[in-house]
Amino acid sequence: MRKPIVAGNWKMNNTMEKSIRLVNDLIPLIKNQNKVDRVIIPPFTALATVSDLLRFTSISCGAQNLFWEPKGAYTGEISAYMIEDLADYVIIGHSERRTYFNETDETVNKKIVAALNVGLTPIMCVGETYEENQAGKTGEVILHQMNKGLADIPIVNGAKFVVAYEPVWAIGTGLAATGEVANKVIADYIREPLSHLFGEEVAQRIRVLYGGSVNAANAAEFFEQPEIDGALVGGASLKSHDFADIVNAAASAKK
Ligand code: PEP
Repeated sequence: MRKPIVAGNWKMNNTMEKSIRLVNDLIPLIKNQNKVDRVIIPPFTALATVSDLLRFTSISCGAQNLFWEPKGAYTGEISAYMIEDLADYVIIGHSERRTYFNETDETVNKKIVAALNVGLTPIMCVGETYEENQAGKTGEVILHQMNKGLADIPIVNGAKFVVAYEPVWAIGTGLAATGEVANKVIADYIREPLSHLFGEEVAQRIRVLYGGSVNAANAAEFFEQPEIDGALVGGASLKSHDFADIVNAAASAKK
């Protein structure tokens, strides 16, 4: 049995004041739900503060990105070493980064290696655009992202990362995939290549999330699916009660 994860990606939202308010609202609502790994992923400006507020809880903190070089003359960038004592998880290759910041499968790969080297758990995002979906290219696109993004990742770290299937057309649109469709994509194009890359036993331990317009009303549909081990949540993670409802849905899922 893989332990479910519900991770809330706040993206470029929340001032310091709002971040403190939201995390203080969230802690009492989700702190005892230990059946689920709960991860709050604030913007970098609030990472240290949120991390501090979560320190004595069982809720984890995550970062939204990193740069693969450990240190040096890279103005504006943040390395894995600068994050490691503030976070347990880091999102790598979110579609917004691929779309707006030229992130490629090659840079995703470098970032995953950098995260694993310092003991951070990467949440690697993969997913097809609407056009790719309509052209019947979902499988091809995701297999490519999986094989390139995870190329030469040492097998010893094989179970230490998380994959999130995030169809680009479902992110922030209110148009979620169905649980059944997401489950099939994950089985065929994520779990299957994981098994080729790392062996069946490791592939069965790696947690795979669904992300894309998950909300309090539809979350349970995803968590009932055998291949879906949780959710990466954007918009709904900015509302404490909605996020708590999603965490509770993950805890009550019957597989
Ligand atoms: C995301 O940011 O990864 C995401 C899935 O966003 P939303 O839940 O708002 O679609």
